[in-house]
Amino acid sequence: SKTPVGFIGLGNMGNPMAKNLLKHGYPIIATDVFPESCKEVQELGAQIVDSPAEVADKADRIITMLPSSPNVMEVYTGSNGILKKVKKGSLLIDSSTIDPTVSKEMAAAAEKMGAVFMDAPVSGGVGAASSAKLTFMVGGAEEEFTAAKELLSCMGANVMYCGQVGTGQAAKICNNMLLAIGMIGTAETMNLGIRLGLDPKLLAKILNMSSGRCWSSDTYNPVPGVMEGVPSGNNYQGGFGTQLMAKDLGLAQNTATNTKTPVPLGSLAHQIYRMMCARGYASKDFSSVFAFLREEEGQ
Ligand code: NAD
Repeated sequence: SKTPVGFIGLGNMGNPMAKNLLKHGYPIIATDVFPESCKEVQELGAQIVDSPAEVADKADRIITMLPSSPNVMEVYTGSNGILKKVKKGSLLIDSSTIDPTVSKEMAAAAEKMGAVFMDAPVSGGVGAASSAKLTFMVGGAEEEFTAAKELLSCMGANVMYCGQVGTGQAAKICNNMLLAIGMIGTAETMNLGIRLGLDPKLLAKILNMSSGRCWSSDTYNPVPGVMEGVPSGNNYQGGFGTQLMAKDLGLAQNTATNTKTPVPLGSLAHQIYRMMCARGYASKDFSSVFAFLREEEGQ
């Protein structure tokens, strides 16, 4: 039978990911600071413990899915963190989207304890997490990739090796910067078309058969009523929060500054998503930039 897998962070993404590991027959040892988050996986048979240290005491393969860099530092290196109890030879996989320099720091700290740390952030939202269709971007020692892939392929359709530790985060940050720019571009384009008297459904159809087509226009259109089954059709609830997108754009800015790389549109996108957070959009899906632009119009 399979040995237990630890899972820390059972939020929007972690919850369905842990369920898929359970489905594949892995016993799960889990924890989350918010007890309510643990309920569903506990009912499905996961053992819930009080701290990341206790998870590390009971499992030698651990996946973390936390909001941001400070949470990851706390869970690995905090006073009740994984590294307090980690077993030699353990495999620690962080699927949170965080600063790649923090991933490197966690890898160095894990190595001191004789454990292996890999970064494996994901692309694909809650839907992809539920249907095990995520894309994992993995950074770390190549000889550990096979062991990581065994677990990650239970939760995702694509598991891509990117290079040394931190490169998974690099790939993820680049993708999300382009996604943010594309979403704002789609929202302002759709809004302009509507103001020019075009029917939004017709305009989306034309864009999607023309050179302006992108994921935000053809799969995740931000205008209510253009598509079904996307957050714009549900008052921008669920999906990928504006606050998380603002965080990812902040990470892109840090890495761009460190490498002296010009990212003018990424920078503007960061400012727009930060302004949205200040105006009450923080927990709405990031496609609500369309609603934000509508609020601004006519001023
Ligand atoms: P979330 O806020 O829903 O879940 C995070 C969970 O971590 C929460 O349940 C929280 O209680 C828990 N947590 C925080 N600090 C903790 C600690 N110290 N110890 C134990 N548990 C702790 O976030 P999410 O939407 O699941 O996203 C997780 C990560 O995945 C983020 O980095 C996000 O950017 C990334 N991501 C999200 C999506 C998406 O569509 N939601 C898509 C791709 C990537």
